Amino acid sequence: MNIHEYQGKELLKQYGVTVLDGRVAWTPEEAEAAATKLSGPVYVVKSQIHAGGRGAGRFADDPNGKGGVRLARSPAEVRANAEAMIGHTLVTKQTGPAGKAVRRLYIEAGCDIARELYLSVLVDRATGFVTFVASTEGGMEIEEVAAKHPEKILRAAIDPASGISGFHGRKLAAGLGLTGKQASSFGKFVAAIYKAFLALDCAIIEINPLVVTGAGDVVALDAKVSFDDNALFRHPELEKLRDEGEEDPKELEAAKFELNYVALDGNIGCMVNGAGLAMSTMDIIKLYGMAPANFLDVGGSATKERVTAAFKIILSDPNVEGILVNIFGGIMRCDIIAEGVVSAARDVQLSVPLVVRLAGTNVELGKEILAKSGLPIVAADNLADAAEKIVKAVREAA
Ligand code: ADP
Ligand code: MG
Repeated sequence: MNIHEYQGKELLKQYGVTVLDGRVAWTPEEAEAAATKLSGPVYVVKSQIHAGGRGAGRFADDPNGKGGVRLARSPAEVRANAEAMIGHTLVTKQTGPAGKAVRRLYIEAGCDIARELYLSVLVDRATGFVTFVASTEGGMEIEEVAAKHPEKILRAAIDPASGISGFHGRKLAAGLGLTGKQASSFGKFVAAIYKAFLALDCAIIEINPLVVTGAGDVVALDAKVSFDDNALFRHPELEKLRDEGEEDPKELEAAKFELNYVALDGNIGCMVNGAGLAMSTMDIIKLYGMAPANFLDVGGSATKERVTAAFKIILSDPNVEGILVNIFGGIMRCDIIAEGVVSAARDVQLSVPLVVRLAGTNVELGKEILAKSGLPIVAADNLADAAEKIVKAVREAA
């Protein structure tokens, strides 16, 4: 689960991470009032959306204008900028061409920036250790730095048995060229971030940029905080930070039915049991020349209700031009699945081609149910056959 920058900063502050003074604003009036409470003389007006690249992004209705992070010299100027930002769509490298509507702003004190650095902490899947990643190339996209200048990426892995120690901070500080007071503030900063990461069960905390101010302080200028969904049940207090407006409505609906659904941008909706089979189904659709509209694992215990819910979610995606159902009946019998598919297809008044591939227990019975349903369901014998048939059916329907 992702949260907004201002929410992340509020949380991090509670763990001792240094952030600037700032306030959230929902209207231009609130933005102006928020600025009057900050010390100035420079104010920063920051679009709050769940995507990065806001500074370099542009508003859809003003592509040659200023970006999603703006400096202002007075509360009146903050208000003027807020008027051009709230309710407008911001397009950044991370939002995709459709952009995201800005509904709230963060009004923050201006900062005298001497250096922009990069710092993040996440679980390194290769080692299983919580690992800090740092770089002198702050403010840039870290993926780009890693691709062009891998030598500029510093790492410090924390062994869970011994935990964090001063050594980790000093190692990174040295790599970043920080000395004296800056190095010691950085060490405290790293320790505070680590504490927050563990306590909140985060997936990632990314501070880009982490700045060294003219006075030598180390401050988080941006904050991306993302929680591990599997641990959210341990943090009911974080649920109120969720912004459903930022989440895909199809994914929200899927979560209600405990369906593992991820929206993608292709045209073939997929309904599969088992994550591995779902991945191969997506691959084979690609192999036959089209792209999956989603990843969906209905799980081993797909009931009729869940199959119907899954169908509805798939069909609520306007990009879907055909559906491929690929089920391996192991614990679940193929005839049960076939009944679920038939009843779901009737319920939702299916309007796009549907190819079903069943294999496993009671497969013959399952195929018979599909054939006798009177619905235009195309049966397939294997994965390749299924992919070929759905691609062909979609092309013919178009
Ligand atoms: P994004 O990563 O989405 O573009 P950031 O919060 O990193 O958004 O802001 C983009 C840039 O704007 C920063 O790299 C920094 O140069 C500048 N900036 C952000 N906040 C402030 C601030 N409070 N004072 C001065 N400059 C800022
Ligand atoms: Mg940033």
